[in-house]
Amino acid sequence: MRSFEDLIQEVRSLCHRCGGCVTFCTSINYGALELGEEGYPRYKDKTKCIECGICSMLCPEIDELDDEIKKQSGWSEPLGRIISTSIVRAADDEIRERATDGGAVTGILLRLMDTGRIDGAIVSKHVGLFNREPYLATSREDILSACGSFYDTSPGMVLYSEHYSTYSPSVQALSAVKKIGARKVAFVGTPCQIVTLRKMQALGVVPSDAIYCLLGLFCSGNFAFDDYSRKRLEKIGDFKWGEVKKINIKGSMYVYLNNGSIHTLPLDELDFIMRPACRYCDDYTAEFADLSFGGIGAKEGWTTVLTRTQLGMDILNHAERSVLENYKQQQAPGDFQLEKDRNRIRELKGQIGHFKYSAKMSGMSESQDPVYQSLARELKELEDRHAGAYLRQNPKIPGSNMVNALTRVMQKSMEKKNQCRENRTELLNGMYEQA
Ligand SMILES: Cc1cc2nc3c(=O)[nH]c(=O)nc-3n(C[C@H](O)[C@H](O)[C@H](O)COP(=O)(O)OP(=O)(O)OC[C@H]3O[C@@H](n4cnc5c(N)ncnc54)[C@H](O)[C@@H]3O)c2cc1C
Ligand code: SF4
Ligand code: SF4
Ligand code: SF4
Repeated sequence: MRSFEDLIQEVRSLCHRCGGCVTFCTSINYGALELGEEGYPRYKDKTKCIECGICSMLCPEIDELDDEIKKQSGWSEPLGRIISTSIVRAADDEIRERATDGGAVTGILLRLMDTGRIDGAIVSKHVGLFNREPYLATSREDILSACGSFYDTSPGMVLYSEHYSTYSPSVQALSAVKKIGARKVAFVGTPCQIVTLRKMQALGVVPSDAIYCLLGLFCSGNFAFDDYSRKRLEKIGDFKWGEVKKINIKGSMYVYLNNGSIHTLPLDELDFIMRPACRYCDDYTAEFADLSFGGIGAKEGWTTVLTRTQLGMDILNHAERSVLENYKQQQAPGDFQLEKDRNRIRELKGQIGHFKYSAKMSGMSESQDPVYQSLARELKELEDRHAGAYLRQNPKIPGSNMVNALTRVMQKSMEKKNQCRENRTELLNGMYEQA
């Protein structure tokens, strides 16, 4: 069995500071671990460690249980199990006003709370300028106050700190669940945090027994920075922190200013503040969640949702009947146009098939024929348009354009991360020497 010492030796500076190891060891009353001041786990009382090795098994950086959770979730390439894709937003204006994207996460949490399906939700509230802190929300007000990604950068505010971080160690808030006697909580977190909780569930250990559902956020990275880096960001994005209303990450970092303008900072240029663990992480869409949420793939003000489990499907369907709006009902083109497109596609396919057959019989190549080229061009244009329209009207189709588009985004984000992954050992050794 591996002890906590083995875990730390392997993970070293790539520890996410998620607190999963400490949360388990404390919940089961072994009490061997605690979080240090910087949020890293450490021994509180080494003599209490029974070397059960569970802290190591549930760490997102250790792959021992990866195959098990993949098997349990019916995982498949490229983005894990996807039952359906949807684009939704909260029906409530107030939620939408405050939300990061369409307020789908908040809408769903409130509905689950109102209908008694959960008695709490682990969310993440703002503290100070950029930092967020996980907490167990037990009321509507608590959930609403954690919604969105607004920052308090009002003029006159003192903007100085050695440590800013966008990462919120949400797993730690699970320790509060038993304390207040909550029985069923929803958990909102990043893909790596969802992995830790699925591993806890696979092992059947506390406090995962209190989790009702896992709501994952798409994630291309979290950032840790100091005041110097903060000023560098102002230069890269050509803005002033005092003017910032909200920040959103979807493919790039988008900085929304109070005057309505949006400044874009490509993620490539933010490498210098990305947390080490995020540099080679390959789970972009929270592949082990019940439902995954992101802004990418959806129009401004809407949230993309991937449904991954039966429970997720049930939650989303229920919310769509009450507190969420679906993009298809708002934007769908008329059935008539879709039907017309379908007929023309059928016709074109027939003509193209005929061309190919004739060319084969005469031993010629059809691809140089201008009529064939024109038909093929029209077919492609129509198929693209039809697929887009069909997706908007039927956003719940697996294997659709949405999944393909997300796969491309994930692959793009992975190109860079893979280079880091290859150099992981080097990276680890470098950090170890620096530490
Ligand atoms: C660090 C980070 C990176 C992201 N990167 C991408 C990306 O590259 N592409 C993309 O499409 N989407 C990304 N997202 C997801 C996106 O920003 C939205 O959270 C998602 O679309 C849900 O929007 P919503 O309006 O439905 O959620 P809301 O209704 O606004 O609810 C958001 C919920 O997330 C919780 N939350 C906020 N910040 C954190 C945090 N740091 N840790 C844990 N919980 C948090 C809040 O407490 C709240 O409950 C990222 C999110 C985070 C936190
Ligand atoms: S008792 Fe188990 S969980 Fe706690 S530190 Fe030791 S090995 Fe880890
Ligand atoms: S479980 Fe989380 S806090 Fe513990 S070592 Fe792993 S990454 Fe770090
Ligand atoms: S990029 Fe990966 S490691 Fe970093 S916070 Fe997101 S899910 Fe976790």
